[in-house]
Amino acid sequence: MSKNVVITGGASGIGRVIVDYLKELGARPIVLDCLPQDHDAVKQLQQQDIFYVQTNVADRQSVIAAFEKINEYVGTQSAGIDVLVNNAGITRDGLALRLSEQDWDAVVDVNLKGTFLCSQQALKYMVRQSKSYIVNIASVVGVHGNPGQVNYAASKAGVIALTKTLAQEYASRNVLVNAIAPGFIQTAMTDRLSADVQQAIKERIALQRFGDPMDVAYLVAFFISGHADYMTGQVVHLDGGMA
Ligand code: NAD
Repeated sequence: MSKNVVITGGASGIGRVIVDYLKELGARPIVLDCLPQDHDAVKQLQQQDIFYVQTNVADRQSVIAAFEKINEYVGTQSAGIDVLVNNAGITRDGLALRLSEQDWDAVVDVNLKGTFLCSQQALKYMVRQSKSYIVNIASVVGVHGNPGQVNYAASKAGVIALTKTLAQEYASRNVLVNAIAPGFIQTAMTDRLSADVQQAIKERIALQRFGDPMDVAYLVAFFISGHADYMTGQVVHLDGGMA
């Protein structure tokens, strides 16, 4: 798979696992993340020769500048941007009555506006190519809701609507746009939950276990493999069968 793949939030967590797996498959990952150049996670990417641009996906100017740099970088290989994976995301949880405007804005700005801004810049280049892909990382919470996450759930529901809309707008240019809605994926976030809470969550999952970041990476790889080219505007639930 010799594709240029831009992955937001790719310096750590699930994004980092996607980066490593796609690289293993022969893709050229390009990472946008807000971590500074001197952060250990970024140094590790650079040691692997992965092109990194420090970017705040919620900031339009930062995103425009990042895609200009990416365009220059891929231009040197006479190639284009084949894939965008919108993975950067944050949580600022709280019950609706007590949620601050700041926490609402922060989450919606990164998760939803960030996905829009990066897609908008990527599409400028993608519409010139014969085929390209956008994969958005949403969440099952954006489908079912979740107490304490009104901002996060709303942002992810927005990502799902954005996915379906972009799929319809750019189908004629062969830009295939799909989303993955993960349930609970084993990360530092799930590790911090108490054993009791983890057990209570697992009881709601048919497979009785959390997902692995690799499960997300495999599905991203499938979407962009060429074996899923009749799929667009879809949201795949990756949740072990959550009730
Ligand atoms: P994480 O916090 O481990 O990693 C997120 C990455 O995004 C980090 O590298 C961070 O630096 C980067 N980031 C944050 N704000 C940014 C910004 N403004 N601009 C650029 N980069 C920014 O999170 P994760 O658990 O790996 O989650 C990745 C994605 O998967 C998110 O969209 C999250 O909502 C989604 N998701 C995660 C789970 C889960 O169980 N972990 C479940 C469903 C969905």
